[in-house]
Amino acid sequence: MTEDDWRWHMYDTVKGSHWLLDLIMQDGECLGVIALNMEDGKLHRFRAHKMVLATGGYGRAYFSCTSAHTCSGDGNAMVVCAGLPLQDMEFVQFHPPGIYGSGCAVHRFGEGGYLLNSEGERFMERYAPTAKDLLPVTSCRALSHLPAEVIYERLPGISETASIFSGVDVTKEPIPVLPTVHYNMGGIPTKYTGEVLSVDAQGKDKVVPGLYAAGEAACVSVHGANRLGANSLLDIVVFGRACAHHIKETLAPGAPHKAIPEDAGIESIEFMDNIRKSNGPESTAKIRLDMQRVMQSDAAVFRTQSSLDEGVQKLRAIYKRFDDVGIKDRSMIWNTDLWKLWNFEASCNAQFKPLLQQLLAKNRVVPTLGKIFLTSRDDEKWMKHTLSFQHNPSKLDVKLQYRGIIGTTLDEEECKAVAPIKRVY
Ligand SMILES: Cc1cc2nc3c(=O)[nH]c(=O)nc-3n(C[C@H](O)[C@H](O)[C@H](O)COP(=O)(O)OP(=O)(O)OC[C@H]3O[C@@H](n4cnc5c(N)ncnc54)[C@H](O)[C@@H]3O)c2cc1C
Repeated sequence: MTEDDWRWHMYDTVKGSHWLLDLIMQDGECLGVIALNMEDGKLHRFRAHKMVLATGGYGRAYFSCTSAHTCSGDGNAMVVCAGLPLQDMEFVQFHPPGIYGSGCAVHRFGEGGYLLNSEGERFMERYAPTAKDLLPVTSCRALSHLPAEVIYERLPGISETASIFSGVDVTKEPIPVLPTVHYNMGGIPTKYTGEVLSVDAQGKDKVVPGLYAAGEAACVSVHGANRLGANSLLDIVVFGRACAHHIKETLAPGAPHKAIPEDAGIESIEFMDNIRKSNGPESTAKIRLDMQRVMQSDAAVFRTQSSLDEGVQKLRAIYKRFDDVGIKDRSMIWNTDLWKLWNFEASCNAQFKPLLQQLLAKNRVVPTLGKIFLTSRDDEKWMKHTLSFQHNPSKLDVKLQYRGIIGTTLDEEECKAVAPIKRVY
């Protein structure tokens, strides 16, 4: 560990209440960001030589998710609105037991907890005799059949969480749980330096000048399609640091900012003004909940061709309801009604659609993808990244393109890449 440094904490102190809305792009280069200061309702354009997006994952696309309500993938939405791709959006890690409704994770199967279905069966043994309850499931109950004193002594957090979030006394009843989004492997494609990637007309990687991403918002793809516990904080730490290093190496102190057009960000302001005045009968919360339920039922752990096809149709119908949306608060200051709608509409445009489209594309070719019982690998067909573009985010069409994976380490002499193997349970 190195010595602590005040600069590492400065951002937390000075960040204030700016909510990032859109990137300011010119000729394919990122020149800054437009943001709303929620405290006084003012809109600001920040010019930047280098912009790092670290806005977190998109777990809130689903009904059940362990992460914060802010994890609606705003950075991903900004990237899509700038005409750039998102990568591998269908790679979503589910935690088997999240408390129904709140999504709080219930761990500790090691202490002897297990999963029951509605018939009271320990059904996971049928599917995965070894991994059993560690595998993702559709919905079930996690039972604490353990003696009360063991629960109070070893699992005080779980009994308290179950009581608060599901009203259950774990010494008497099972906790209602369902698979809960825990990490998003997909996101903004980046190099190991944190530089954001797109592809050129020939499908070759090209760096987007001025733009970086790190953490759950990004898809540097060290996790591939599967993230293991304790790895993801490293994502933000390792690649956040890589961004800082690369910026330091490539930015000359005192360099003047590039000029931005007079009206840079005007589209964001117009969009915000439109939704601020919207007065339809539909509420953002209702549309969002319906969308999250569709994602949970049709595009979660068990995915079939028909569930995905159905999901796309339902999502299209839900998306149309934005035409009738309305908010009540017309002010600009700390207007949660307004930014929740902005945030949801932008996010919906930008990622719930590509997520489903990418799932759909993969399922068309490999009907069992997404299920836990794949019996063979088909690396020839599937060892590649899926990119989704939306050239007009207000339309429902998503264009998919593919990128090759990087199968070697940075220094093969020092450390050879580990070949992927079949996963068995
Ligand atoms: C319950 C739980 C347990 C976990 N346990 C582990 C573990 O044991 N080990 C591990 O490695 N990982 C764990 N993870 C995952 C890990 O915490 C996350 O992957 C990691 O925090 C992501 O970091 P991040 O900085 O990329 O995003 P976040 O921590 O989500 O931070 C994103 C930030 O961006 C802000 N933001 C979003 N949109 C905007 C906007 N438009 N404008 C301004 N600000 C915005 C958000 O408010 C937030 O502060 C866990 C996650 C959860 C939820």
